[in-house]
Amino acid sequence: MKVFKFGGASVKTASAVKNVKSILDQYKNDDLFVVVSAMGKTTNAMEGIVKALYEKNTDDFCALVEDRKDFHLDIMNGLFDDNSHLIFDEVEEIFTELIAQKDERLVENYNYQYDQIVSLGEVLSTKIIAAYLTLYENDACWKDARTFIRTNNAYRKAEVDWERTQKLMDSELKSKKCRISVTQGFIGHTKEGFTTTLGREGSDFTAGIIAYCTNAESVTIWKDVPGMLNADPKWFENTVKLDKISFREAIELAYYGASVIHPKTIKPLQNKNIPLYIKSFLDPEASGTIIQTSTENDDLVPSFIFKVDQVLLSITPKDFSFVVEENLSDIFKKLALSGGHINVMQNSAVSFSVCLDINKDELNHLVEMLSDEYEVRYNDNLELVTIRHYDQHTIDRVTKNREILMEQKTRQTVRIVMRNMGVEVEGDADIR
Ligand code: ASP
Ligand code: MG
Repeated sequence: MKVFKFGGASVKTASAVKNVKSILDQYKNDDLFVVVSAMGKTTNAMEGIVKALYEKNTDDFCALVEDRKDFHLDIMNGLFDDNSHLIFDEVEEIFTELIAQKDERLVENYNYQYDQIVSLGEVLSTKIIAAYLTLYENDACWKDARTFIRTNNAYRKAEVDWERTQKLMDSELKSKKCRISVTQGFIGHTKEGFTTTLGREGSDFTAGIIAYCTNAESVTIWKDVPGMLNADPKWFENTVKLDKISFREAIELAYYGASVIHPKTIKPLQNKNIPLYIKSFLDPEASGTIIQTSTENDDLVPSFIFKVDQVLLSITPKDFSFVVEENLSDIFKKLALSGGHINVMQNSAVSFSVCLDINKDELNHLVEMLSDEYEVRYNDNLELVTIRHYDQHTIDRVTKNREILMEQKTRQTVRIVMRNMGVEVEGDADIR
């Protein structure tokens, strides 16, 4: 069996859904497990709906629900000639239940309610797509991921219970076999049967989970880019596609912030040696990127990952004690409490520097927690560039017109925290 994953952009209009069908038509001889995200920007819209509900802003809530309903109806009208098709009733029912929430008492646990509502985006997309495929293909079926992806109850960032999921998937596949199974990315369920979500952009991970549990022959993530590029075209010119890289390389790139695949997706695939293809749904014949075991191509070109809005914090114990031995666990505890995300760390005898993703409030809180015992200084508005398989030439290119505040090198990777001096740069692969 092959596992396919289609993201929101690949199903955002009726013609996009038709394109998905035409891709599936190329795989008539395969068993397919098709994982689909919510259509277009529906997850963001659903988040707005939950927010309006909790702000008790009934007018906004109703308007936003209506808008999502129209959006889905519009796609359905483009797919189904017959508007007495059962799918119209099913979708109507989902929205009727959703709108009724405005008259119910608010559930105290926001994250729980978030998951119950936001997950509907994937339920809607898969119901519509499964119904559409069934018009042409008698062996397609809708599968409910909320019956076989088992998680804990950490709503909005649920952790998979692999053992239960494996058992549930085994029996799901035995009881209901069809050539094309269509299911939701991003969502699961607790042992009590409540819906959970795996964290934003989690649909790739769902494809990984399903492939792992079914020993699939491969996973293909269909995207609006030709494959994994060596840099984000938003920041860099002259990007090149990585034709073939290893699981190790992909997980490193995803960890440093390359946004093409969800970082959790790689591990289950690596564990079972299941190749991952990244291909363009706009050009399905093109070769894309293949992620697999062999590392031989990993260092062919340098890859760049760029992050903005970085904060570089430097922390020095006021009593001049050694920072690592005597203070690090305390500093880490406070960093964890702050909610910031650590990107790079470095220390000397009596000072510890850390480059973070952190918002203003979190930063103020962190500085407050630290300043009794430590001298704390910080710079904000910085850039962090990570270069895999660097050489001096690429470092020079990327740091042109930048002031370097911190640099960390291993054999494969250099990470540079720097300040943009605000001068226009020229030349290939310079940061825009
Ligand atoms: N629809 C979810 C999101 O937008 C999951 C995904 O697309 O991967 O975050
Ligand atoms: Mg998405």
